[in-house]
Amino acid sequence: MGKRALITGITGQDGSYLAEHLLSLGYEVHGLVRRVAFEDPERRFSRIRHLLDRITLHPASLESYPSIFHVISRYEFDECYHLAAQSFVAESFADGFSTMSVNINGTHYVLAALRELQPRCRFYFAGSSEMFGNAVEAPQRETTPFHPRSPYGISKVAGFHLTRNYREAYGMFCCSGIAFNHEGPRRGFEFVTRKITNGVARIKAGLACEIRIGNLDAKRDWGHAADYVRAMHLMLQQPEPDDYVIATGETHSVKEFCEHAFAEVGLDYREYVKLDERLYRPAEIELLVGDASKARRVLGWEPTYTFKELIKEMVKTDLELVLKGVKDNASM
Ligand code: GDP
Repeated sequence: MGKRALITGITGQDGSYLAEHLLSLGYEVHGLVRRVAFEDPERRFSRIRHLLDRITLHPASLESYPSIFHVISRYEFDECYHLAAQSFVAESFADGFSTMSVNINGTHYVLAALRELQPRCRFYFAGSSEMFGNAVEAPQRETTPFHPRSPYGISKVAGFHLTRNYREAYGMFCCSGIAFNHEGPRRGFEFVTRKITNGVARIKAGLACEIRIGNLDAKRDWGHAADYVRAMHLMLQQPEPDDYVIATGETHSVKEFCEHAFAEVGLDYREYVKLDERLYRPAEIELLVGDASKARRVLGWEPTYTFKELIKEMVKTDLELVLKGVKDNASM
């Protein structure tokens, strides 16, 4: 019989790619979804629409221990991937209290319910390169000290330590992936990569004439989410639980991302990208670049997308989406 997995955050970018990946491996896939999502399925389930008849969704909230406990009490899960979180850094500055509350307590609730009901279920925590923040070394690796620069980053450091402590204190199989930025056509529009590729498509289609961007000099290690979910799964297949950096090892500035994305449609980004200081963050991370050699060595994991291929796919998909929107509007 195939394995059964539970994914929190299944409606998000990573959750949708992970669900696809696990289904392709013969898993029975379950997901936790907020009740409000069931009331607005068209929008909230847009990333998993094509999977809905092959997965089982349960209403539950990261803010409610009983709702999580209830789902985990009904099925035996082999693996649990905890991806749900308030994941947008800028929003975490706007409302640090709810980001910290949902991200830290939510992780603790899932771990506590598993410990109580299914201590043998393997657990994955979605850690983040934001935990490194202003790092003392580059590239960052598993041993690099954390110096988070946002409420989001702080909440992920707390989740990372909770995960490690459940492993050490209770002998549970708990792993954290320290994933660097990972993107793709399903990325939320608030993140800079999708904001840029969507902007490029709208400008190309004549629907917009500029995009407003904040810090163009920040550098990130951008991979493709479809590659990163494979690493999550691999971590839970090892003989021993451990933590791993997941990254491409390459870093590029926001400016370079703009340059390549506009070049995809034959435009010069300098004519369309307008600097907007209101989009700067109170504390910025200037440089992130990861060293994933442990994941390569132990998990046999490698990213398959290059920076240019990632941008190409995102721009192409956004162009198709925008042009389809224009056509649908015209025929209405
Ligand atoms: P993050 O690395 O998780 O914060 O991912 P984001 O995609 O939100 O941001 C990546 C980098 O792009 C950060 O250094 C931001 O300061 C920078 N950036 C510059 N302009 C923008 C913008 O308009 N939106 C976002 N989201 N980020 C921007």
